[in-house]
Amino acid sequence: MQKTRYAAAAVAAVAALTLSACGGGGESADSGSSGEAGGGESLRIGIKFDQPGLGYDEGGSYSGFDVDVAKYVANELGVTEENIEFVEAPSANRENLLSNNQVDMIFATYSITDTRKQTVDFAGPYFVAGQDLLVPTDSDITGPEDLEGKNLCSVTGSTSAQKIKDQYPGVQLVEQPGYAECVTAMGGGQIDAVTTDDIILAGLAAQEANAGKFKVVGNTFSEENYGVGLPKGSDRCEDINAAITKMIEDGAWEEAITSNTEGADYTFNAELNPPTPAPCA
Ligand code: GLU
Repeated sequence: MQKTRYAAAAVAAVAALTLSACGGGGESADSGSSGEAGGGESLRIGIKFDQPGLGYDEGGSYSGFDVDVAKYVANELGVTEENIEFVEAPSANRENLLSNNQVDMIFATYSITDTRKQTVDFAGPYFVAGQDLLVPTDSDITGPEDLEGKNLCSVTGSTSAQKIKDQYPGVQLVEQPGYAECVTAMGGGQIDAVTTDDIILAGLAAQEANAGKFKVVGNTFSEENYGVGLPKGSDRCEDINAAITKMIEDGAWEEAITSNTEGADYTFNAELNPPTPAPCA
C-alpha cells in the first residue's frame, strides 16, 4: 500500500511536469469523464454496497460478481484495480449517477430495459437472473399469486418493484432503499416476502446473520439481463462487450460466478447463461 502510494505520487509528479510542459491539464481527452490518476486512466464505477455475492462493501474492500466483472472489464480497458474508484449506486440513483456524470459506468445488478435505455446506454448483458421471492423458512408462499393482501418488500427504482405494481396490484408493496432493509423488516415480522432477482435473494439468505431463517422460493417470473450502464452516447460499449466476451471465453466468468455464489443456495440458469452481449446501439 505504502509502496503503491509513493509510486503513484512519483508518477503524478512526473505527469504534472509533463502537463505543465505542454500547457495542458484537466480531464483526459477520450471520454471526458475519466481522470488521469497515479499514472494511468482511472474509472469511477457504480456498484451495490449491500448485496453480498454481487456488490458488497466490507469496510472499503469490495467483493462480488459485479465487482469481479467490473475489474476484469476495467483491466481490458487499460485501467488497473488501484485506479478504480467504486461508488455506491443504489437502485433508484443509477440513471441519475450516469446522467449527472458522477460515475463512468455501472455494474450493479442493473437490468437492461427499454425505459432505462431512454436515458442511459447499456453494454452486455453479462448475466441473466430472474425475479423471485424470499420468504421465512416456514412460509407456504410459492409465488406472486399467493401475495394478495400480504406485505411484500422491494426496492424503489427497481424492475422488481415495478413488476409488482404493474402485474399484482392487490399486493401491499413496501418500498425500501435497499434489499438488506427489506430482509431486516421480514426478520422483524412486518413483511411476508421480499422480491427481487434470485441471485440477490440467495446472497442475502446465505449471510451468517440470516442462517436458517429464509428460503428463496425458486419460481422465477421474469428475465433480468444485467447490463453495464453507461452515459448516453458513450463510446465504450463495443470495448466493454469485447471484454465480457473474452471473460466468458477464458473461463474467468465461470470462476467469478462460482466463487461468488459459493455457500449460497443458488445455481445460475445454464440455459440463459452465460449470455452473448447484444450489439451496441
Ligand atoms: N435487476 C433489477 C433492477 O435492475 C433488480 C435488482 C436491483 O434493484 O438492482 O432493477
